[in-house]
This record gives sequence, structure tokens and C-alpha cells, in this order.
Amino acid sequence: MAVGGFAGGCVADMGGTISIVEAPKVSRSYHTDKESVTAKRNLKREECGCCVVLPRIIQRKPRPGDIHPVDKKALRGILRSSPEEYVYGLDRIEFKPREAPRSEEGYTLIGAPFGFYMRVDKSITLFSLPMTWVLREISPGLTYTVTGWGGNIQEENGKIIVEWPSENHLGLWFTCTVIHHELGHHYRHQYRRKRKHAYWTEEEMVANLHGSRLTREMFQNLGKQKRAREEQIKEGRKK
Ligand SMILES: [Zn+2]
Repeated sequence: MAVGGFAGGCVADMGGTISIVEAPKVSRSYHTDKESVTAKRNLKREECGCCVVLPRIIQRKPRPGDIHPVDKKALRGILRSSPEEYVYGLDRIEFKPREAPRSEEGYTLIGAPFGFYMRVDKSITLFSLPMTWVLREISPGLTYTVTGWGGNIQEENGKIIVEWPSENHLGLWFTCTVIHHELGHHYRHQYRRKRKHAYWTEEEMVANLHGSRLTREMFQNLGKQKRAREEQIKEGRKK
């Protein structure tokens, strides 16, 4: 599907599986008991003994006018709060300026792709983005995820204008739609074993399912942290 005039990348245009209210549940076959044991046993840990050594994070400057929706510090937090089996074996994550191989007058060239996973070196690449996108067309999947995470879509003079109310909104969309999806690709590859060759659409669907699981767990963890903070405040008031 074309996004902004390009044949779409592997992300977002395959969307439709994420909602800000509730991400769909991943079936039991994608639960990761064995994989989490393998990861727990083999992951290198920091001196504290509990924090895992994260993959290298390389941050290049964004394309002029763009931002990296998630910065290095936030990415570390996302990786630390993700189940360890999704991080195990991942060599590096690299932020790069958005590539726009051909110019198209008046349109923002995005999604070619937003990010990708490389099996050969187990790396994830994430591209920068502007806060406003001017598109020739937008796929139903991308429309669904953009509006689900708070982006505004309007049509003006035949152009599709996508505007993000804040960097946080774009960052949340990017985390849940792009980063979690790419971690899903890594997970799929890391524990592939003797699985038969899969078609591209199957790979994408499975990455989306894993991405949904990561998103759901991220919100569950945030909810727990919020409740713990509220309890602490309550306890403080009682004293
Ligand atoms: Zn993909």
C-alpha cells in the first residue's frame, strides 16, 4: 500500500491491530515461556545483577525539519520495560535521518519505511519524522493507528494533512506502531528454529501480534507504576 507516494514499508500500513483503548490479546501460541527462560539464562547483565545490558543505541541527527520521535533515553526505558526475550540477541538500534530517495513536490515522503529489522546483523533502524505530514494518500491501516494515538487527519485541496498535537503523541504512536513491531520481527527471527519459510504477510501479521502484546504490557506496567505511586502518596499522608 502506498503511503505518501511510496510503496509502504513494513510498518503502519499493515496496521489496524492497535487501539489506544485496548490492544488485542495475543493468542497463547505467541506466549513466550521457553524463550523467556532462554533469554533470562543468557542475557548479559549490568553490575547490579538485575538490569540487562541493552543493545547498542546509535543516534544520528534527524533529517533537517524532522525529529526523532523517541530519543535515546526513552528508548532505553522502552527496552528495559519490555519482556527480556524481546531484547535478547538484538545487537543494536540505530536512529537515522529519514530517507527520501526522490522528491515529490509539496508532499512529505514518509513510511518508506518508518523503520526496519535486519536479520543478518540483528539490528533495528528507526527513521526520523516531521510533526506534520502532507500526503498524497493514506492507507486505512495508517489512518487507524494515527487517529488511535491522537494524530489529526484532514483533507485540504486534495492533500492529506496529518498533524500531531505534540511530540509525546508522535512518540507514543512511534513506540507502539513502529518500535514494538520491529521488536516483534526480532523476536520472530531470534527464536525461529526450524520454522518453515513464511510469506511476507505472515511475517508482518506475527510482528503486529507481538507489537500488540508489547503495547498491552507497556500500559499494564505504566498502570502498576501509577497505582504504586498513588499508594505511596496515600501512605505519606497517613503519617
Ligand atoms: Zn514489519
